[in-house]
Amino acid sequence: MNSLSRSISVPRNYSGHTVVKLLSNEVPKLFPFFNGSTLSHQQGSKNSDNELEELWTVNEMNSTFSVLRLGPAHRHRLKRSTGYSIISDDLQEWINRGFGPNIRSARSTKRIESVLVRDFRLDKYQPLDEIYRYLDELVNVAPVRVFDIGETHEGRKIKAIEIRGNSQDPRLVWIDATIHAREWISPATIIYIIEQALVTKAKVNFLMVPVFNPDGYEYSWTVDRLWRKNPDAMTEECNGVDLNRNFDASFDGQGSSDDVCSQLYQGPSPFSEPETRSVGHLIWTMRKNIKLAISIHSFSQLWACPYAYDTAPTPHYREHMEVLKAIQDAVYKTHGVQYTIGPLSTSLYVGSGFSMDWMYERAGIAHSYLVELRDKGVYGFLLPADQIIPTATETWAGIKAAIYKVLDVKIRS
Ligand SMILES: [Zn+2]
Repeated sequence: MNSLSRSISVPRNYSGHTVVKLLSNEVPKLFPFFNGSTLSHQQGSKNSDNELEELWTVNEMNSTFSVLRLGPAHRHRLKRSTGYSIISDDLQEWINRGFGPNIRSARSTKRIESVLVRDFRLDKYQPLDEIYRYLDELVNVAPVRVFDIGETHEGRKIKAIEIRGNSQDPRLVWIDATIHAREWISPATIIYIIEQALVTKAKVNFLMVPVFNPDGYEYSWTVDRLWRKNPDAMTEECNGVDLNRNFDASFDGQGSSDDVCSQLYQGPSPFSEPETRSVGHLIWTMRKNIKLAISIHSFSQLWACPYAYDTAPTPHYREHMEVLKAIQDAVYKTHGVQYTIGPLSTSLYVGSGFSMDWMYERAGIAHSYLVELRDKGVYGFLLPADQIIPTATETWAGIKAAIYKVLDVKIRS
């Protein structure tokens, strides 16, 4: 299906869907038919009343909670729970109220605009076209190169930006964002980072892919706010690959799925997708120069190092923890927000086919990290826009600390 027919798709409506938080070990008892993160009824099904989906998990006080989206037909099952809390009684109303596109946060009074690109607000979530306009217009005002590295299933360009802050230095800092479509704070944060790197004239070279998954991101704006994967072949009932399960690092292992209906579907083979092939190729070409790599996700408030696929420590465990500690301190000093640190497998969950593990293990980039931005599951993927700037500033502080630690270059405020 091409992008024209996609753009006239009917937006997905979550009216009457409940978002509920309950202890994870209660889930099989209340929903015995539910298979992990897989939708109980296939995506695109007309019968959305019967849908059930795990949106995220939260670790709190040694307990694991699951946040589920329940179609109206499942609501009555909560009566058998020993305790739960409703996060939203009507997910669509919640999306509409303040967390959807183009709705200004009531609390935010001061506009924060780019000083480099006209009419571009940094304190709003921006659709793909606007993000690409920002990148393209930067070329006229800053020492950057913006170039296409590939094309998606639906024919959209995947854009990379290179910032040359120090032409004498061959070393590069890699940052990517938006591999998962619904994690809107991720592109908003990387744009802020680009802006700050240029405004502060940081003496560092960056290579970034701000929107790793352009089809998915567009789809999350136009059709389904909670879309995660790269949509493909929308005529089929289930589709899309979790691009962060598609890398050649313990592919098909624990924490990924070979079920195309799963949110964690790994794809038919490593690098089966145009997005992972394009980004993987760029990283592979530049791997000798990349000294620090960071992948931006949301949410959980976590800075993580490899492995994702194995709970055993890597040979670099001690060095990674030193960098993560420096990041954690710098982040905390910004707004007093605490982020957890540690290997992804022991801090969040075990997952296979991650770009972070592939960069570390296959591409030989010793300092490869992943950040899960705000929050810890109150708003989750629907983080209000008034948290964009606070999240982005603390993340930039963390990245500057990592650059100082790994590259020994200081970036001013
Ligand atoms: Zn993610």
